Amino acid sequence: MTRVFIPAVLRKFSGGAAVLTGSGPTVVEAVKSAVRKMDGLYMSLFTETGQMRHTFMTFLHDRQVSSNLASTVAVSAEDVITLVPQLAGGVDLSNGFGVISEERSATTALTNDEILRYSRHLILPEVTLEGQKRLRAAKVLLIGSGGLGSPLALYLAAAGVGTLGLVDFDVVDYTNLQRQIIHGTSDVGRPKIVSATETIHDLNPNVKVIPFEERFTSENAMRIAKDFDIIIDGTDNFPTRYLTNDVSVLLGKPNVYGSIFRFEGQATVFWAEKGPCYRCLYPEPPPPGMVPSCAEGGVLGVLPGIVGCMQAIEAIKLILGIGEPLIGRLLTFNALKMNFREYKLRKDPNCPICGENRTINELIDYEEFCGIRGEEREAVQLSQSEEISVVELKQRMDAGENLVIIDVREPYEYAISRIPGTILIPLGQVSERAAELEQFDEIIIHCRSGIRSADALNILKSKGFKNLKNVVGGIDAWSVEIDPTVPRY
Ligand SMILES: [Zn+2]
Repeated sequence: MTRVFIPAVLRKFSGGAAVLTGSGPTVVEAVKSAVRKMDGLYMSLFTETGQMRHTFMTFLHDRQVSSNLASTVAVSAEDVITLVPQLAGGVDLSNGFGVISEERSATTALTNDEILRYSRHLILPEVTLEGQKRLRAAKVLLIGSGGLGSPLALYLAAAGVGTLGLVDFDVVDYTNLQRQIIHGTSDVGRPKIVSATETIHDLNPNVKVIPFEERFTSENAMRIAKDFDIIIDGTDNFPTRYLTNDVSVLLGKPNVYGSIFRFEGQATVFWAEKGPCYRCLYPEPPPPGMVPSCAEGGVLGVLPGIVGCMQAIEAIKLILGIGEPLIGRLLTFNALKMNFREYKLRKDPNCPICGENRTINELIDYEEFCGIRGEEREAVQLSQSEEISVVELKQRMDAGENLVIIDVREPYEYAISRIPGTILIPLGQVSERAAELEQFDEIIIHCRSGIRSADALNILKSKGFKNLKNVVGGIDAWSVEIDPTVPRY
């Protein structure tokens, strides 16, 4: 049987299984056979007409198979197919890839204090005083100063990168501290940009920080990015990933990419002039809600430290012009297995932004492209009659109404907090367990914040249920407005 590796983001549809087996003459047939009994998985991987979706890369061993060719590439029982999702990741380096010209490093000088500070760099034959001057001359833009941005900013500042641009409009939240180590407990509630700048200057006052306390958008992205040598993608959402990619391609700059999910990370360097770009790999964003954010899916706090450090090393290599950059290679990291895998990436000659016949010549509306509005994915639009506030829910419970309340979170979330009298049916099981519910009952659905429960409501609606209500704000609103003893998370 051909083995098919299922990525972590889709294991909610495979009953947690990481490997499924199937049989068939081609990649498509083998994958279809492996997932045939799992509706959710099938729909995530294939379109209604049975075509493989473009939101995944498919590898046969370590060779990438284009989704268009997957129905013609033959497989055998010994083969291994790996599906690599995008997570909210043939190279010509003969002309060199260092981003700092000799003229720029020649006009840069180090003080004696700096020479002492960077002494462990200066004695590396690959760096030397010349390399340290390049680092000093370099201007690196970090999109986001959160999980990936924290180690990136700290190590790039410590290494002596002369100018760091930071783009972030968020404030430090208590739940950030588990991984965003550039911020401290006393920073909770302060702008991340301010907190990060202070930490950077404490670590290395020689670094010039250029803060952009604004959302990175189509309107400001070119203005913000144009003066930087390298752009680093430390974002957590798909619209900003596509925007960061397109800005980098249009400006001809390298985009050092990293992404994280639970225990797994990805890193590569996109540079359209020398290799593939993000759109070459992932022409289409995943449907909203298929790949959860860290807030929805969780993340090991150390993981962004590993991936962010890999991005920092790649940025430094691009500045120094040393080693082999991750251009055209995707490195994936699995913390639970503690292993790395490397996949060769191909430039897509039909890529809409870096291909020969590009169709994208300027920045577009990325939230529309990704099918969402707003930075966080918003709930599917429901009518007012399909919504209920936590206050109204409490009143009806207190009035002794016999309510059917479904909690569509995961069991480990249910173990943290719950509303009394609710039935746990995780979102991934709603479709198959719908038969346990009575069509004519009024069914009230909640999750943590109201987004997954809106998805669940639509699933039940599609199965003929009519009397459904989504709890606005979920159990989080219940904790804030009704019962503060219910812990928030
Ligand atoms: Zn491309």
